[in-house]
Amino acid sequence: MKTAEILILGAGYGGIMTTLHLQKLLSIQEGRITLVNKHRYHYQTTLLHENAAGTAHQDNNRVNIDEVIDTKRVNFVQDEVCEIQTAEKRVLLKSGKTLLYDYLVVALGFEPATFGIPGLKEHSFSIRSINEARKIREHIQCTFARYHHEKRDEMLALVVGGAGFTGIEFVGELVERVPVLCKEYDIDPSKVRIINIEAGQTILPGFAPELVNYAYNYLKNRGVEFYLGRMIKTCTPDGVIIAQGDDEEEIKADTVVWTGGVQGNSLVGQCGFPTARGRVEVRKDLRAPHDDHIFVIGDCAVLYDEQTGRPYPPSAQITIQQAEGCAENIKALLKGQPLKEIKPEFKGTVASLGSEEAIGIVFGKIIVGTKAVIMKKIIDNRYLYMLGGFNLLLKKGKFKLF
Ligand code: FAD
Repeated sequence: MKTAEILILGAGYGGIMTTLHLQKLLSIQEGRITLVNKHRYHYQTTLLHENAAGTAHQDNNRVNIDEVIDTKRVNFVQDEVCEIQTAEKRVLLKSGKTLLYDYLVVALGFEPATFGIPGLKEHSFSIRSINEARKIREHIQCTFARYHHEKRDEMLALVVGGAGFTGIEFVGELVERVPVLCKEYDIDPSKVRIINIEAGQTILPGFAPELVNYAYNYLKNRGVEFYLGRMIKTCTPDGVIIAQGDDEEEIKADTVVWTGGVQGNSLVGQCGFPTARGRVEVRKDLRAPHDDHIFVIGDCAVLYDEQTGRPYPPSAQITIQQAEGCAENIKALLKGQPLKEIKPEFKGTVASLGSEEAIGIVFGKIIVGTKAVIMKKIIDNRYLYMLGGFNLLLKKGKFKLF
């Protein structure tokens, strides 16, 4: 039996968990596993808003890939994927290397979707990686540090575009971070504005109304200015122009962070699969349409939930379950067995509003406050345990309550 070349692209939630399952499931004779990732480290995308605001350092949120994979079983390649050539079954890397595969797992995550809004790409930040998060943190800190020299009000205006999960979690972190920065740079906190702009009429679409109200009131009482039902029309070097019908208003701000939309990694669309917002609608076994050798998982994939008739939301919990199913299906393919349908279970979701407040729904039950904060820590710690066992949990786990 020929040893299969299994190539996994991306070491986020989807890629790293597929790798960990495969290294356990397959013998050396059955499959050679190669994992490619831009960075030598894995990070939890779900914690990037903390790194971007500066409430948690990025080093707490990254783990060397070599420390969690079995390096005797997995060949880790730090490189950037530039092109996937499906007809030739090969992947081109930035370094000039080419990797061949028998089976490919695409887990390259998301990109910001700017919906063609002029200036957003050029003048706003997005919370998409450790590098971007660090840039946002340093930009805000640097702007506060320069304030006493330039004294422009817009230096203290922090605009967040989008009031979905990421936008609201980031706003929650800013609420916590701003007093610390004000103390450090001798700035009157009442001069700082945290402004959240959302085209919809409400924050946190998809959440139960009582949770939406709870989060809205919590953040509003801490000074967040909400502009709901307003579209960002243009982003400029000076801030944003927002519109409601024919009315337009300029908000001057040195910091604009766009969280208003995401799409699948554009490399996926470039390899010829039909995509909607950069995501491939995968078959029930997670394989791409018309290609039995390619699995697409996580934020690059759309998988329909038969019960609701709607796609599963792009989320870490669904991605982790897909990764397990994907590894099992690769094993089944190698053994010539039938592939199983992957039906992830959506267990609920918890959104943080800073480190001391959170809201969520878990197994259909609404939780807020301390219960939700604890639940969020349990979710994060459970993941660390899955990733690197007790050692990693003890090193990186969140145990402090407040
Ligand atoms: P990712 O985990 O993003 O991994 C993609 C990987 O691919 C990264 O390591 C990246 O470096 C690598 N990569 C990208 N391009 C290349 C390339 N060209 N070459 C090589 N490597 C590349 N979901 C939840 O369930 N709960 C939450 O509380 C939650 N909170 C979130 C908070 C924030 C701020 C954000 C942004 C998202 C949140 N999500 C949450 C969504 C969740 O993070 C994603 O759905 C999940 O990360 C998807 O996993 P993935 O493996 O597809 O992508």
